[in-house]
Amino acid sequence: MDSTQKLNFLIENPRLDVELKNIAQKVLNNERITFDEGVTLYQKGELSYLGVLANYIREQKHGDVTYFNRNFHIEPTNVCVYDCKFCSYSRLIKERDQGWEMDVDGMMDIVKKYDGEPVTEVHITGGVVPKQNLAFYAEFFQRCKAHRPDLHIKGLTPVEYYYIFKKAKLSHYDGMKYLQECGLDSMPGGGAEIFHPEIREKIAHDKCTAEQWLDIHEQAHKLGMHTNATMLYGHIEEFWHRVDHMERLRDLQDKTGGFQTFIPLKFRNKENQMENVPEVSVIEDLRNYAIARIYMDNFPHIKAYWAMISRDTAQMSLSFGVDDIDGTLDDTTKIYSMAGAEEQNPAMSTQQLVELIRKVGRHPIERDTLYNVVTDYKDVVFEDAGASKKYYALPVVN
Ligand code: SF4
Repeated sequence: MDSTQKLNFLIENPRLDVELKNIAQKVLNNERITFDEGVTLYQKGELSYLGVLANYIREQKHGDVTYFNRNFHIEPTNVCVYDCKFCSYSRLIKERDQGWEMDVDGMMDIVKKYDGEPVTEVHITGGVVPKQNLAFYAEFFQRCKAHRPDLHIKGLTPVEYYYIFKKAKLSHYDGMKYLQECGLDSMPGGGAEIFHPEIREKIAHDKCTAEQWLDIHEQAHKLGMHTNATMLYGHIEEFWHRVDHMERLRDLQDKTGGFQTFIPLKFRNKENQMENVPEVSVIEDLRNYAIARIYMDNFPHIKAYWAMISRDTAQMSLSFGVDDIDGTLDDTTKIYSMAGAEEQNPAMSTQQLVELIRKVGRHPIERDTLYNVVTDYKDVVFEDAGASKKYYALPVVN
């Protein structure tokens, strides 16, 4: 049975709850579901039901295609002026001797390690410190672009930008415009957490608000930039807070069309101030991906970070609405491992990523940041593991 037949079969099941049947019919008719229906999915939708709906939408949008990219991260600092309760990564300013703070030369050294390597993107994210200000990032973006014009710079989040622009006395629009002129290409989706103030106040009370986060994305979209959005789920929020979060993003996307990808991020409870909050199950992870795919009808892509949820769960997520599993990473990020993710040294060669996708019957495509096809791996035959590893594996950054 294909995904359409499965959805029709589900709708014809006389024992299906009436509300769930109506939602399934809406999905088949390509109609948007409401806020209340989103909450109903969380309250009543079993995994098998949600999988049928989400996979139908995924295959309508992308068929079997699953995207990944070749990228590396730079994390300029893990010291931070903020104090998010869920954060396992950062050190407060008063503990800065336990962390790291790079200068622009240090960041450029990392970029230069990839000279001649077929990476397409550098993803920059980290903490917020006063000396990594507007001039600091302007210099880095300019030097990075001058050194390697083809490398897409996906950098920082509204958390950093709000702080930097306020210090520089620039509006969100003028700040983004200036940094775009310096070489910034796009913005990742971090810092969104949960928008609703009832939860945000408790887990991230001192950083930018939902309105500020959304406004900085809106200004970036006005400048023609594409951006992503995340949601940190599975801690103290209730289901309706998740729907509220997605609703705000869906509304902005209706207005600007600038978002590419929605990325649900699982709360991990190691080494942070919320260690007493249990983590949700893999079943809940998959339910959440599926509901995101159903609710976010105007977002082209749903992404699962394999480094955060494990390779096995990433494979399963491809049947629950996910069409992108992110990049090779090359062990250049500490954000997931420090929060207790299964992957303590996240790096995969292109061959490993391709095989991971193929093993669950999907069609691997290497993309650039803007989802242009770099290489279609549908019919690519790898040489023996040793030879292909030599060619495809990325160097380790120490
Ligand atoms: S989540 Fe980000 S803003 Fe919050 S403390 Fe950690 S590094 Fe700082």
